[in-house]
Amino acid sequence: MLRRLVTVRKVTGIQPIKGADRIEIALVDGWQCIVKKGGFQKGQLGVFFEIDSFLPAEDPRWAFLEPNFIDWNGHRGFRVKSQKMRGHISQGLLIPLGDFPELTEVLQKLEDEHGREEAEKLSQKSSFEDVLKVQKWEAMHSKTSGWSEIPKEPIPSFIRRTDQERCQNLPDVFEEWKDEIFQESTKMDGSSMTVYFVRNDSEKLQELSEADAAKQPTVVQPNGRFSVCSRNVDVAEDNNNSDTGPQYWRVAKRNRLPEQMAGLNRNLAVQGELCGATVQGNFEGFPAGFHDFFVFAVWDIDAQKYLPPKETEAMAKQLGLRHVPVIGYFPLREIATSVPDLLQRAEGIGLNKRKREGVVLKHVGSDFSFKAISNSYLLKHGE
Ligand code: AMP
Ligand code: MN
Repeated sequence: MLRRLVTVRKVTGIQPIKGADRIEIALVDGWQCIVKKGGFQKGQLGVFFEIDSFLPAEDPRWAFLEPNFIDWNGHRGFRVKSQKMRGHISQGLLIPLGDFPELTEVLQKLEDEHGREEAEKLSQKSSFEDVLKVQKWEAMHSKTSGWSEIPKEPIPSFIRRTDQERCQNLPDVFEEWKDEIFQESTKMDGSSMTVYFVRNDSEKLQELSEADAAKQPTVVQPNGRFSVCSRNVDVAEDNNNSDTGPQYWRVAKRNRLPEQMAGLNRNLAVQGELCGATVQGNFEGFPAGFHDFFVFAVWDIDAQKYLPPKETEAMAKQLGLRHVPVIGYFPLREIATSVPDLLQRAEGIGLNKRKREGVVLKHVGSDFSFKAISNSYLLKHGE
């Protein structure tokens, strides 16, 4: 699912903050966002910028945020983060729709074409980051030594990216899916990693660029092609054994994944979290030198869908791989009945007895899944 960072949303409620006379809380779907008092009424439309939106300094409407501008990926701007004000969490930025004539124009067109009610529904399904030149802020990899020198290609389009929707954007899920069974797993804070194998007789092979067996001996297998990807890129085979460089290929080879995936002889992508001492600040607290791959999904390239969670667990076992910790399989109503309820539950203990980043819930009967990140994690990590 693509992240929708900039959306037009209806304010579902306003709550006062005790002792504060200039600010109040606006509720938008499952989010709570602190706004100037009197700026919004219940039912009013606003433009909501989700956390991790990167707002460009070139747009004069963001000038008021200038003291907090940062430089990121060659651009200057403001990164929207979670904050705590007067003891209340505030997430996202809510701006009156009237400040964005370019969006009002889009909405007006929709209304002329479809009528008011339908236009509102359509607009709430759209995302406007491109119109407002907002980017998704992401941590830059360049700090990992050696990463910038490795040749890369985009991750093949026949593999689903590992993104998860935030529960705050799915406020109706607890009613609509309450009797459905979900797998609850610990969300681990490392880097997304995918290993895949494509057989020589698969038409998918055409999408991959020519591989040089001399330079990439592991990529070229007798019965097909193996490779390793980060979240966004297919990483060229790395034959250097540096302990500080990117660990993707090392971890794949140590787990004998090239041979094992070729041995399965199926068009599959195994997806998981690469965690360890040099990954993402080592949130999980692994000992020096430790790096490993924690499986959370298996993508069936032919069927273009995920294996059910229990089959994924079985496949991880079969391959001798670790799996992200599974808390259990429950009807959704037993896990949580509302967004705040699930956020509370996200604040639990993860691996290595540390506080966890959050939980991921996966429906056992479909590809539907979403995440709940603990607010204490977001605040602590400045996200
Ligand atoms: P985020 O880290 O906020 O971008 O959330 C989505 C990412 O969480 C995915 O791309 C995975 O790399 C990662 N992740 C960590 N633990 C899990 C898990 N248990 N299930 C699914 N994804 C996970
Ligand atoms: Mn992550």
